[in-house]
Formats: sequence, C-alpha cells, structure tokens
Amino acid sequence: MDLEAELRRRTRGEVRFDAKHRALYSTDSSNYRQVPIGVVLPRDAADVVETLAVCREAGAPVLSRGAGTSLAGQCCNVAVVLDCSRHFNRVLEVDPARRIARVEPGAILDDLRRAAQPHGLTFGPDPATHEYCTLGGMIGNDSCGVHSVMAAFEGEGAKTADQIVELDVVTGDGIRMKVGRTSEEELARIVAEGGRPGEIYAALAKLRDEYAERIRARFPNIPRRVSGFNLPYLLPENGFHVARALAGSEGTCVTVLEATLRLIPNPKARTLLVAGFDDVAAAADAVPRVLEHRPIGLEGFDDRLVEDATAIGILPAGSGLLPRGRGWLLIEFGGESREESEAKARRLASEMASPAMGAVAKVFTDATETWLVWRVRESALGATAHAPGKPLTWEGWEDSAVPPEKLGAYLRDLRRLYEKHRYEGDFYGHFGQGCLHTRINFDLETKEGVAKVRRFLDEAADLVVSYGGSLSGEHGDGQARAELLPKMYGPELVEAFRRFKRIWDPEGRLNPGKVVDAYAITENLRQAVSRTAAPPETEFEYREDGGNFPRALLRCVGVGKCRRPSGGTMCPSWMVTGEEEHSTRGRARLLFEMLAGETITAGWRSREVYEALDLCLACKGCKSDCPVGVDMATYKAEFLSHYWRRRLRPRSAYAFGLIAWWARAASAAPRLANFLTQTPGPASLARLAAGMDPRRKIPRLAGTPFRSSFESRVPSPESRPVALLFPDTFNNFFRPATAHAAARVLESAGYRVGIPRRLLCCGRPLYDYGMLGLARKFLRRVLEGLREEIRTGMPVVVLEPSCAAVFRDELPGLFPNDPDAARLSAQTFVLSEFLAKRAPGYRPPPLPRKAIFQGHCHQRAIMKTTDEEEILRRMGIEVAVLDSGCCGMAGAFGFEKGEHYDVSMRCGERVLLPEVRRAARDTLIIADGFSCREQIEQATGRETLHLAEVLETAQRGSIT
Ligand code: SF4
Ligand code: SF4
Repeated sequence: MDLEAELRRRTRGEVRFDAKHRALYSTDSSNYRQVPIGVVLPRDAADVVETLAVCREAGAPVLSRGAGTSLAGQCCNVAVVLDCSRHFNRVLEVDPARRIARVEPGAILDDLRRAAQPHGLTFGPDPATHEYCTLGGMIGNDSCGVHSVMAAFEGEGAKTADQIVELDVVTGDGIRMKVGRTSEEELARIVAEGGRPGEIYAALAKLRDEYAERIRARFPNIPRRVSGFNLPYLLPENGFHVARALAGSEGTCVTVLEATLRLIPNPKARTLLVAGFDDVAAAADAVPRVLEHRPIGLEGFDDRLVEDATAIGILPAGSGLLPRGRGWLLIEFGGESREESEAKARRLASEMASPAMGAVAKVFTDATETWLVWRVRESALGATAHAPGKPLTWEGWEDSAVPPEKLGAYLRDLRRLYEKHRYEGDFYGHFGQGCLHTRINFDLETKEGVAKVRRFLDEAADLVVSYGGSLSGEHGDGQARAELLPKMYGPELVEAFRRFKRIWDPEGRLNPGKVVDAYAITENLRQAVSRTAAPPETEFEYREDGGNFPRALLRCVGVGKCRRPSGGTMCPSWMVTGEEEHSTRGRARLLFEMLAGETITAGWRSREVYEALDLCLACKGCKSDCPVGVDMATYKAEFLSHYWRRRLRPRSAYAFGLIAWWARAASAAPRLANFLTQTPGPASLARLAAGMDPRRKIPRLAGTPFRSSFESRVPSPESRPVALLFPDTFNNFFRPATAHAAARVLESAGYRVGIPRRLLCCGRPLYDYGMLGLARKFLRRVLEGLREEIRTGMPVVVLEPSCAAVFRDELPGLFPNDPDAARLSAQTFVLSEFLAKRAPGYRPPPLPRKAIFQGHCHQRAIMKTTDEEEILRRMGIEVAVLDSGCCGMAGAFGFEKGEHYDVSMRCGERVLLPEVRRAARDTLIIADGFSCREQIEQATGRETLHLAEVLETAQRGSIT
C-alpha cells in the first residue's frame, strides 16, 4: 500500500512524508532521535481515527504527540506521527457550574487557563511549558508543574491524571470509546454487552483482580509517581477510573480524541515568600513544616543554579534579590485578597526565623522582583544546559521523586553519587512534592561515556527506589527510564504493564518500544549522530561552542519556547505561520539533520533547510529569548553563505544586500533617483528589478546625505571629549535629519561630534543573503577607517540598532583574533546607552506627552532597550513599550515580494500596526530602526521619530 497516498485520500488532515518533515519530527526534547515514517496533522477526531485505520492496514506504527517537548524520548519513534497541535486544538467548553472543561487533544494549556480565568477557575498542573504545551500531551505524560501542590490541596491529586473526568479515546485496534470512573454495576453492564469494549473492560477487571495486592504494595504512595502505568486507578477504592489509568501511558495504549477535565478555584491574589538555608538539602528538610501552611506552590533550588542564572544574565549580578543562603525555597501563597495571601506569607516568614528552622526569609511585594525570582526557577533548564564556561549537561536523570519528607536525605545521597561518578549538576525542582530536577554533565558522545552513564543510572535508580521513590516524577519513562522499571516495580508488575498495553493495543502499533518492551536506554542517542558528523569549515567562529558548529546546533534543547503563540520577540515566523519548520527549534533541527546527512542529504545545498530559513526574519529574537541562546540569525547567514557559494543569488540579494553601493551611486543624482523610484511607472519597473513587492514603496532618497551637510557645519569646541557618530547607510542617505538631531543631542550632552573620515558601511544587509565574504570586506574597511579612533578608546555612537548589533555581535564572530574588532565591539553604543553610560550628567529635556515605543529586535537582543525606556520616562513621556516582537520588516525581508511581504505584514499586524492605528494623533510613535520606521509609516501613514529626534525637538521645544 502507498501509505502516504492512502492517508491523503482518506483524511482531511495534512499529510507530510517528505524528508524535511521527517527530519523536523525526528526528536523531541530528549537525548533520543528516531526518524519517523511521516507526519499527519489531523483536523478532527475523524482524521485521527482514519489515520489509525490506514496505518493498521499498512502495518505502520503510530505516535500521537502535541508540542513534542517530552524529555524521555516518548515523542520520537519510527512511526507515523500524529501532531494534534496544529489543527485539532480547540477548547470546546468551560462549564463553571460543574467546574469542568472539554478540550481537543491539541489545545494549549494556557488557552484553557485563559478561558477558565473569567470564572475564577484554573487548571491545576502547570508545567514550565504552559504557554504552548498541549493538554493531549499533558494527559499522555501525566504532567504536573509548580502549582500541582495547589491541585493536590484542592482535590483529588496533584497530577494531570487526577484532573481527568472523562476521555474520548480510540484504541490501537480502532475502537472509539468514552472512558472514566466506572461503578461496579456499569462495569458489569459493559462486560455483559460484549464486543470489543466488553472484552477490554473484562480484561482490565481481570488484571486489576490479579494484581490488586501487588499494586497496593509496590506502587509508591507519593505525590509525584509518574513512572509506570497508572494501574492504581483501576483499584475499587479509586473507582475503577479507566481514563485516569490511561493518563501517563505515553501514547502506547490509546489516542485521546477529547478530554473532559476538572478545574479548580484560582486564587485572586498571590504572594511569594523566599527562604534561604545553609544548603539545598537543608531547604528540602524544611518542606514538611512549610507544607503545613498549605502553600499553592513550593519550589526549591541550589546555589549552583543561582550561579548559572547570574552567568547568563537572568539574575542581575549582585542584585541581593535572594535572602542569604546557599539553598532556597520559593513558597507561594494564595488568597482572596493581597492582604490574605501576604498575611499567610508573613506568618510562615516569622516561623522560618525560629532556631528550629534557621532560615532567612523574605516576603516579596514588588511585582518585578517577584517575576525575577520566578524567572530563575523557570529558566533553570536553559540556564543549566549551556552555562557559560561549563560542560554541556543532559537529561537522563532529570526528574526523580521521593516522599517530600525524605527529599533532604535523598539530595545528600544523590550528591554523593554524583561525586563518586565525578558528575556535576544543579539541583532544583518541585520540592513540595519531592520532585528533583537536574541536568548532568554526562558524556553521551563517546562509548566509554555512555557506558558510564548507564552504570550511574543503575545506581541512581537503586537509590531512589531505596527511598520509596519514583524514577520519574514528571517527565515519564519513554525510553530513558523504561529499562529501569523492573527495579522499581519488580518483574510481575512490569508484566502487568505489558498486559495493560496489550488490552488496548493488541498488535503493538501505538508508540512501540516505549515504556514497555522498550528500546535500551543507550540506543537511538542523538549525540551519537553529532559524534559522527565532522565539524565543517564555517565563516563564524562559534567561540562559545568551542568553535564547533554541530555543537552550536545541539544547543537547542527542544523545550519549544520558540513555539509560544505570542509574547516576546521569538519567534515571529512561527507566530504567524504556526509551522514547525518556521520555529527556531525546527530550523535548528533541520540544520542538525543536514550535518548528520541521513534524512537531509544535500548538505549545504539542502533545499529543505533553505526553505525553513527563508522565512527566518533574522531578528535575533532567539538569541535573547531562547533559554540557551540559539542564534538562528547567525546560523542563517552561515548557511546561506555556503548555499549560494559560486551561484547566482536572487535579484533582491543584489538590490538590498548592496544597498550601500546603490544608495551612494544614487546620491550623485538624487532627483533622478527619486523620479525613478517615486513615480508610478518607473517605480514599478524599479521594484520589479529589485525583487520588491509591488505593495511596498521604495524609500525616498534625501537631497543631501548627512555626511555632506555635516561637514559644512560649525564644529563644537576642541576642548570637549569626542564622540564618533557613525552615519550608517540608512540614516546617511535616507534620513539625514535623524543623524543631525543625534549630533545636536550629543553636543548638548557635552561632546564634540566627529564622523569617520570616509564613508563606511557595516554591511548589515549582506548578512541576510549570506554574503559574508563581502561583509568581511566591509568590516575590514571599517576597522581600517576607524583604527586610530578605536585605539584611542573613542566611543562610537550608532543610530541604526541593527548596525550597532553588527559591531557588537557579528564583528567579533568574524574577526575573533583582531583586538581592534574587540575594541570596536566594546566601544559601540546606541544613542540611549551612550547617554546613560557616558554622559551621566545629561538631563533629557522634558516632554509631557504620550508615546508608543517599538524597540528594534536587534537592540532588544544585543543592546537592550532599558536605557531608552528610562530616558523617555525621565523626559516625562508616558511611554507604552509594546510587547509586539518583530515589526515584520526586518531589514529587507518585508520589502521582498510574495511570501516575505505576507509574513512581514502578518507580523506587523499582530500587535504593532493595530496599536499605532489606535493611538491618538498626538501620541508620538518612537522607533529607532530604519526598517521598523518604514513598516509603520508605509502601513499606517503615521510619522515616526528616532529617539534622537524626540530629544532634539524637545530640546528646541518644537514638538507640537
Ligand atoms: S530553539 Fe531555544 S526555545 Fe526553541 S526549542 Fe530550542 S532551546 Fe527551546
Ligand atoms: S532569528 Fe527571529 S525569525 Fe529567525 S529563528 Fe530566531 S526568532 Fe525566529
């Protein structure tokens, strides 16, 4: 059978069996990699049922998944992947009276929480991936999260399983049934009615009866037991809850079509209390006392995590934010009012100071500080995966759990085990439920290293079992722990798991080789693939990754923050297309597969990689927002430089990439140039020649470039310190008024303004087309042209944020051994930074107005916009800093025809452009980036101002 064709014929879903999609779905967030047969994106339940039917007929296994963020390898397999997150993702109903909700499997947790919030309700378990994880995935995994503690206090248990009322499922052999709590009468009726459902229920009852005593004896009664199948839910005392028994079966037994879930009250107010202890184990020892106060969240972490979070800039160095200590508990209280939650926190805080507890406690009342502390905890995975100057760390023993009252002792023993094996890893986790997270510096790249990991895992499993704990308290078994299950449960219960699976999936078609009869822990490791790929010659240095491009690609830990549907900058193309290939993760994965050469076989000439990178706006959003700093803009430039080597690029590459040359040539006859670009007929031809979208306007050239008019002005006194104003191509030729305004602002700040002796360009647009040879020449010219000034330590002020980012970011990567490159990088400032850091006495002029501020993505990623926001506030401007992400223009991207223009407009229309249109006429629209300004002005007709113009015109008192 032609499986792909048959799936296309019989389902309405999208069927993707091409190499690109097989590569995209070849791994999850784990150490494992298995290339799937193909991918189906079902639109509804009928598509899922039919896909299973077709695959059954073809003898093909099936793997259902959501956002694919699993850490134990349960979401990669040699199977047909059913990705429900794309289309099958609605929140169907919230019933506040019954406190339940109905969802499709691909529904995002935060969508459910948003729908429940107006009713004062929420969903208890909330993994760190709550912005994009799917409820189907949470059910498959039996997920938990920070507020599982609250879920446990509010009702029947902490885990997702405990929130399930009913599931609509389809079995491995295609039987659709609704399952939930089942009374003995109902059970008898279903069995009596016969058919496949009767057979399944009879088999389940038999399994329960045979294993009841063993289940009671061997299943640890702890809040975070996620390992193994949920057989205790079949026991009579638990209501023979078939739906809950299926939760956590990791897609190996059934596929979920719809879920009815329990909601719990959402506290109106929350207060955070942080307590510092001598070490992390002492913090864990205090957990039982803290739990008596019924917090809604109880997390912990150690000093190593604080060190790593500080190193990557998540926690400001020396901020003194955390109370004194080397191990901390984060304790959150809820209440009907701020007073109530705060009173609970203060009560515990005073108890903490008692000699018995010996802690230093601090109640957080400031929202920003509270957010910062939570960010340390939430970013732990990223902070510990690639901590600067430390070895890479990996999952593998990342979520063991013990009874909360034994956590302190367990941590001490586990640390000793690390020391025995010479491993390192930070400790953090859901301490209130005895669950510990850690990533370890495993060597998964050599055979000896892998063998050592295997030995460690055996000992770690023995240790956790000796504490009456669970191998997994959150992320499931998949392939990472399945082989260890006999240690925890004994062979009889493992046989019961096998039987449980067979009841639902007699032919073993659903996610085979995971949880039961699993692949070995050390099989299918993706590090084995990178081990065999020789590092290629690259243009950039990748110093932080040891000069090794494949290792840079391994940075992506797959947790999928780049799949957030909104918020922050990363990742604009994903936000508008919703395609995995247009997420940062998808791109990193395709590049990884390209180097591996197994699925993506054309190397640097891969069309698949080109297509995925084509819609990357090179906004650098991932460089700042991704927890491990995946720098896709650089990888894109790297790829394109190889892809186009010795080949003709598209027209737009020469039109936009070489804009510095065109603008210079056109400035010799600006009136002619503007006639050709601004008059309808010739302009259409010009757009056609440049590969520009007909709906875009070509920016008008200034009559006189900034440099020409600057040279004729009266210089300020020699005695002043000099600031070198760098006239970038855009402000020099298209917006000289901005550069003049900046010069006047710098003078009013006490500086004498100089400009480079000759016309220079940083070559920013060249990166978008991978013209890195030329970019290097441009930069060499800059270094030669500015060498004297650079060596005197003269500061360089750059008005265009993306050009400033070239000097700060790309330059050291292309000239790693040139001390002048390092100097220029360190001496470059955007205007706001310069005023804040080099002109501390500068008083910005007052301007009591409202404004919208669109920060340039590159500024947000590399230089940050905090100084600029501060200056605007000091001016008395009521400034709205938009959480709009990339404006969509992104250099030349939005000017280019077709899909680029469409994506560009969709990015802009997400937040920025509607906000600008809504703004009152006298609200200032502030944007420093040339492309941001073009996007706003072309799409809304509103005038924009650079910070320099805002300051200068306020200085002159001429803003009306
Ligand atoms: S690119 Fe970054 S945010 Fe996206 S999955 Fe990878 S590590 Fe996570
Ligand atoms: S550079 Fe921007 S568009 Fe490209 S992957 Fe990163 S966040 Fe996405």
